[in-house]
Amino acid sequence: MTGKRNQAMVIGWLYPELMSTYGDRGNVIVLTNRCRWRGIPVRTVPIDFATREPEIRGCDIILGGGAQDRQQGIVISDLRKNKKTVLTELFTQGTPGLFVCGSPQLLGHYYMTADAEKLEGLGIFDMVSRHFGRRRPRCIGNLLADIGNVYRLDGLSYAPTIIGFENHGGRTYLGPGVTPFAKVIRGFGNNGEDGTEGAVYRNCIATYSHGPFLSKNPHIADWLITTSLEIKYGKPVKLDALDDSLEWQAHRSMFKRLVK
Ligand code: GLN
Repeated sequence: MTGKRNQAMVIGWLYPELMSTYGDRGNVIVLTNRCRWRGIPVRTVPIDFATREPEIRGCDIILGGGAQDRQQGIVISDLRKNKKTVLTELFTQGTPGLFVCGSPQLLGHYYMTADAEKLEGLGIFDMVSRHFGRRRPRCIGNLLADIGNVYRLDGLSYAPTIIGFENHGGRTYLGPGVTPFAKVIRGFGNNGEDGTEGAVYRNCIATYSHGPFLSKNPHIADWLITTSLEIKYGKPVKLDALDDSLEWQAHRSMFKRLVK
């Protein structure tokens, strides 16, 4: 699909000045470029303290990045008081989202910080997150995880994977009925214990993968764009193919390095 319509795809970006500590603004850049390269008009709306419901309701996809405990503590009351209702409504209706590390921790039931401060979350994801204090080593390193279907790349057939980079002290524990986003092959994932990475709620993805995540996972970027346009226009959307050789070269080289 090329962008013949004059209506732009609107990317909502949660607290860009406070929640992009680990370079997750790169995910906004990847989605923006992958739309522009296809001639799909796209614009980004920062969702900040002053942003009110009507503007958030106009978003076709919402992204959230990572943050240190301090910034999470700064945004949580505004997120809960002024954004909870509209975000819950949007995600329940199927608006897609991608939330990395510190932001999904706030979209679960709570995040207990390194200083044992309990940040009550939005409860959108049925999960809880907890930092066990600064003496507990952080989960830092490359992440390779399996998202479960067969994916064929240049004859290199392997289960479709995601590649990312983790840097979190908090550990996340999924509720009984929650679908993990992926299964860990290498790395920590949600908590380094149960082999899960991230979570899925409707069309929202929670992940611990920084990177920025979408730069080495074009299949997820295009899934997000497709889903958001299909909901926006209420009809199936087929995106024009892009030359992703560089992205898959990066994905494959990390895959080979990590799968050993
Ligand atoms: N402050 C949170 C933690 O340490 C999130 C970190 C992040 O977003 N990378 O787990």
